[in-house]
Amino acid sequence: MVEMAIFIDVSKCTGCRSCQVACKNWNQLKAEKTTNRGTHENPPDLSANTWNRVRFNEVVNDGKLQWLFLNDRCRHCEEAPCMFAAEDVPGAIIKDKSGAVIFTEKTKQLKYEDVRGSCPFDIPRYDEKTGQIYKCTMCIDRITNGLKPACVTACPTGTLNFGPKAEMLKLANKRVEQLGGDAAIYPGEEYNTFWVLPETEENYGLEAKATVSTSRKFAWNKILSPWGTLGLAAGFIGCLSKADTVTDQEQTR
Ligand code: SF4
Ligand code: SF4
Repeated sequence: MVEMAIFIDVSKCTGCRSCQVACKNWNQLKAEKTTNRGTHENPPDLSANTWNRVRFNEVVNDGKLQWLFLNDRCRHCEEAPCMFAAEDVPGAIIKDKSGAVIFTEKTKQLKYEDVRGSCPFDIPRYDEKTGQIYKCTMCIDRITNGLKPACVTACPTGTLNFGPKAEMLKLANKRVEQLGGDAAIYPGEEYNTFWVLPETEENYGLEAKATVSTSRKFAWNKILSPWGTLGLAAGFIGCLSKADTVTDQEQTR
């Protein structure tokens, strides 16, 4: 199978949430009880039972209130930081040749905080009942059988597209040209799920997450882990004692 991708054309999204329902239906994910927060956005966050959701961003453009919809889900990163966080448990998070990043049952053996903290987009979620970590699978069970992901099939507006990555990128770049202005591919071409945003990332509430480079975030997670902290402390003490030695040597000269 060639590398595949999901391309999300945000300019066509009407916030109907057919994608949310289709995902729950295909993956047999439970409905969640939520409360009215004074917005049509529901549920309020991703969870072990919600692998994609439409964010309703409210912005004021030229004095007019506007809803900007954005379907949030795993980016299926080409170099996925969550995989690095799982390297001590082989097979817990795997990269399929389709480009999908898959969390398996072995995620039960991982530390949830490490996996969630490693993701620059805050995607993985833990289920206390099963002890497993979950996220969008790119519908691996469908795409390896020649079907499109359930959410893509359910989308009535052409917002969600699926196909060979090279074709999806071609479509996305064409759409950026057509839209003009601030339109751009988000988060970038090195992801197997990417968006074309007609407005700035800030208007979609994405600025904080997008500015954290995956490698930088991963490096900090490693350093801040208990063993990393011990190593850092040892290195620091080593530097101090070396400095002392140099000072002693300088004093005896
Ligand atoms: S978006 Fe997060 S969970 Fe998805 S592949 Fe990238 S690092 Fe992993
Ligand atoms: S690709 Fe499949 S698992 Fe991922 S959000 Fe769409 S329906 Fe859910």
